[in-house]
Amino acid sequence: MSSTIDQQILDVIRKSDPEVADIVSREAERQEHTIELIASENHASPAVTVAAGTCMTNKYAEGYPGRRYYGGCVHHDSIEQLARDRAKALFGCTYANVQPHSGAQANAAAFMAMMEPGDTFLSLILKDGGHLSHGMHLNFSGIFYNPVHYPLHYDKDHAQYEQIDYDAVRAAAHEHKPKMILCGYSAYPREIDFAKFREIADEVGALVLADISHISGLVAAGVHPSPFPHAHVVTTTTHKSLRGPRGGLIMTNDEELNKLVNRNVFPGTQGGPLMHIITAKAVAFGEALKPDFRVYQEQVVTNARALASELTSLGYRITSGGTDNHLMLVDLTTKSDELTGKDAERWLEDAGIITNKNGIPDDPRPPMTTSGLRLGTPATTTRGFREAEMSRIAQWIDRVLVAGLDGDEERERVTKDVRDQVVALCKAHPLAHEPVMA
Ligand SMILES: *Cc1c(COP(=O)(O)O)cnc(C)c1O
Repeated sequence: MSSTIDQQILDVIRKSDPEVADIVSREAERQEHTIELIASENHASPAVTVAAGTCMTNKYAEGYPGRRYYGGCVHHDSIEQLARDRAKALFGCTYANVQPHSGAQANAAAFMAMMEPGDTFLSLILKDGGHLSHGMHLNFSGIFYNPVHYPLHYDKDHAQYEQIDYDAVRAAAHEHKPKMILCGYSAYPREIDFAKFREIADEVGALVLADISHISGLVAAGVHPSPFPHAHVVTTTTHKSLRGPRGGLIMTNDEELNKLVNRNVFPGTQGGPLMHIITAKAVAFGEALKPDFRVYQEQVVTNARALASELTSLGYRITSGGTDNHLMLVDLTTKSDELTGKDAERWLEDAGIITNKNGIPDDPRPPMTTSGLRLGTPATTTRGFREAEMSRIAQWIDRVLVAGLDGDEERERVTKDVRDQVVALCKAHPLAHEPVMA
């Protein structure tokens, strides 16, 4: 077995718990021999993975560096300060809170810092590419606040079809007078104009929250424009394009908002911070500060364009006509009316290509079926794939989907053939696994 989880670490687990070691080792094997196209996933480096497994997990460190509720935090102060300083250097901002356990937790604290319960905020709805935590009715954001939404351009003849309609954002802002305007998405393939959002927010006295969970790696590398200095508060996950451990991060340039953010992370929404994860965040931010990271992010975008362009030439429509970032939404209905995201996801998984079904803007099908697939390139770029591999992957996707439409027998034959080629390609580009305890 080879994977980012070094053999030696699995050996340590196996000695005490073979049952768990077996499951983890099978997962390592799955990651090693499948093509990961889920836009929100990545392969963290061995250093990040191992840092998350250190003795830093053993400490209660409620509070912040220099102001803790427990003794013995001297090294935890050092690591949290280092993680903060690296985050600030990476994104060019004044304040960073590295404690949020996840992106949704970061948003909960940011909402509490920026609004009172019951206040109105303006965001993109989930089905158009927003996130659960941007006002979905079952989420805290939809339960404790009043979400209103701005539309995309839904007019097929418009040059910016399926892109953000900034005139409509402005109109909605003037109509609803929100306390906060939220930009940043989970399934939006185009560049975000943060300056425009700030201009509109200033007209109605609203604050801007930029949730850059998906694009934070691109932003850190300068491959997507920064939300600073336009957004009042910026939230992100650390495990998507940023390639760190699973976690969240909140940043701002505003001293008062920073105080409110800190108070609303702890004690507002969380207890003790996950200090082993903060340790791994420090490692990941250190990696992202190196020149190589920019080269990586540029290739992520180049690969996304290559994948989109090959799929287009194979007869699939890419929503909004293409991509500026690391992801795309594929409208499957242009290939066949019969094709759903649900079937495509399952058929591709059988062939070793991991994707997720996703609604396209204005999708007539329900979220558990969908007419689209969301594809992203951060993970495949990490393992060294370039344009040539993207082109092969697009062809495999097409073969599997066309065979699926032709029935079970044909699908079985093609799936086996593609699966063998997927494994061969993965073997030629193994995941990084330097020895960590040599
Ligand atoms: C992924 C994502 C989140 C939530 O992250 P979790 O770590 O899963 O809680 C929040 N906002 C956006 C835009 C996202 O894409």
